[in-house]
Amino acid sequence: MSQDIMQRADRVIAHTYARHPLVLVRGKGCTVEDAEGGTYTDFVGGIAVCCLGHAHPRIARALARQAETLVHVSNLFYTVPQFELAEWLTQRSFADRVFFCNSGAEANEAAIKLVRKYFRQKQDKRFRIIAMERSFHGRTMATLSATGQEKIRKGYDPLLEGFDFAPFGDLDALKQKIGPETAAVLLEPIQGEGGVRTPPTGYLEKVRQLCDEKGILLIFDEIQTGMGRTGKLFAYEHFGIAPDIMTLAKALGNGVPIGAMLARQQVAEAFSPGAHASTFGGTPLATAAALETVRTLEEENIVARCADVGAYFKSLLTTLKERRKLVTDVRGMGLLLAMELSVEGAPVVDACMKKGFLINCIQERVLRFVPPLIISREEIDALINCLDDVLGR
Ligand SMILES: *Cc1c(COP(=O)(O)O)cnc(C)c1O
Repeated sequence: MSQDIMQRADRVIAHTYARHPLVLVRGKGCTVEDAEGGTYTDFVGGIAVCCLGHAHPRIARALARQAETLVHVSNLFYTVPQFELAEWLTQRSFADRVFFCNSGAEANEAAIKLVRKYFRQKQDKRFRIIAMERSFHGRTMATLSATGQEKIRKGYDPLLEGFDFAPFGDLDALKQKIGPETAAVLLEPIQGEGGVRTPPTGYLEKVRQLCDEKGILLIFDEIQTGMGRTGKLFAYEHFGIAPDIMTLAKALGNGVPIGAMLARQQVAEAFSPGAHASTFGGTPLATAAALETVRTLEEENIVARCADVGAYFKSLLTTLKERRKLVTDVRGMGLLLAMELSVEGAPVVDACMKKGFLINCIQERVLRFVPPLIISREEIDALINCLDDVLGR
């Protein structure tokens, strides 16, 4: 059955993905099931998306209720879940205003456009954005232009003008990149796709200070790190600072597509009616799902739990590093964790899959673990045993 599905899919779907030979048909909590009835504990979580796990009853009910009520009317009108979600987000972050869209790339597009508009309105010539080497900000032309990875940019020139790059974690190099046209610094507090790279101690605080001194806006792409993933609702909270603009997507709707660009009032003001828009941005359906997701995160204290379980997971990975020579590094925060190997990770991913665990490999040698935030210690123990076994062979 799976063979037939895969063959038919490969005939008609654009070949942009190298997929695992697995047809997933349903899920519950941290487990997914394939078309043959095989089950897997899911440490990919839809790439840091399914924070509450699969088929969560509260989200399913909220979606069904909203689908029976109102799915979409466009942003020509007010809708209730949209402003309630914006209230929830602004009350719990530095931000005063939210622009809703449908993906991470769109949220970053909105942030890039807002930066340009902000300075243009002040009749200030600044428009350049300094992003980081190894960053990932999306696949649209502007976000690709902000992405510091050659393998992702290759073949798409000419890219959008106005992006410079500095090595993540190097304050002096960043300082040197700042010029009279620099408008903003854009970074992920922890680089996700680039290999789960955490910032050196004090770095983000100093970047904030530098931006303040130079009148430059600071944008945090929290698409992967936000919504509790690192053990705080937003990763910036770990560092006692806040950006001027923040982008969210991935876990915001627990799998229902939604993105958001948040900004302080003074910056957000640069967007006036007609300046930016999205037909589907913030539909009642998507915002109802996201609202139920964030309420569940809060009511069930899942972010603190993530910090706790994440520390447990990381300690086990660190122990594994001492036992298995192939492991060269363990890093990350909360449930955004990685284990770097001295060899290619793909065979390890395949071996784990055969044993009933889904994990993900990035940058050739980095195993990334981004399970639902509701993952249990028992499920973590089981994965560690599996990894121990696979790496021992
Ligand atoms: C996933 C991701 C994006 C892109 O999100 P899409 O929804 O795929 O467009 C951007 N930035 C970061 C940090 C991400 O992890």
